[in-house]
Amino acid sequence: NRDLAMQSQKLAIAGQLAAGIAHEVRNPLTSVNGFLQLMRSENPAHEQYFDIIFSEIKRIDLVLSEMLVLAKPQSIQFRAHDLHLILQSVLTLLQSNANMYNIILEKNLHALNSLISCDENQLKQVFINLVKNAIEAMPTGGTLRLKTENSGSNIVVSIIDQGVGMTDKQLAQLGEPFFTTKETGTGLGLTVCLRILRDHSGDIDVRSELGKGTTFNITLPVSPKPPSSVK
Ligand code: ADP
Ligand code: MG
Repeated sequence: NRDLAMQSQKLAIAGQLAAGIAHEVRNPLTSVNGFLQLMRSENPAHEQYFDIIFSEIKRIDLVLSEMLVLAKPQSIQFRAHDLHLILQSVLTLLQSNANMYNIILEKNLHALNSLISCDENQLKQVFINLVKNAIEAMPTGGTLRLKTENSGSNIVVSIIDQGVGMTDKQLAQLGEPFFTTKETGTGLGLTVCLRILRDHSGDIDVRSELGKGTTFNITLPVSPKPPSSVK
């Protein structure tokens, strides 16, 4: 059980470095990709080699795009949004994903004030990453619960899974760039989440029990509700 935000200063430096590298690597990669496409179209031999090459290039590109989020975003747009609508759209997006693994998505969006000031796309990214991780932690199915409640001038979103859980060692490494226990993981999802939450004055707290499940609690400040009936 730990407070991930405490680590964010260290991660910020690692993130900046990662973003710098991503930027430098992406341009030559685009050029390599282009010339390989040309080679393939002029030379129909070695089709299966090209398949592997292009799927590996796609993977490098995915890692780079996650690393780039760690750079200061160029156009971060803070607007008033209903967090419940954002959460609902994330659930809709990942419903078929959940079905595939026999996971029931349960929502208790009970916060009375869910109005926050945020960049909608960035915040969606946070909850897509967290819900995806929860789904991936339950390979044999289970219930994934998404809950909100107000606490003081904050809203707390809890993502509760009944998955594999984490060891203390894994818990300690959470959020470190490139830390992953998955065969095809990038280990950048949570690093990106931490970065975005920090930009939104948010906080994240994790509790996990091996073999039982994991709970991520995300805290974000709410905007004061507009006065109800002013005449
Ligand atoms: P990735 O999903 O690509 O591995 P993340 O940064 O999203 O990268 O997650 C890093 C690691 O944290 C995962 O590989 C997994 O070991 C652990 N993890 C994250 N969320 C959960 C969860 N809900 N249950 C168990 N382990 C988790
Ligand atoms: Mg992930």
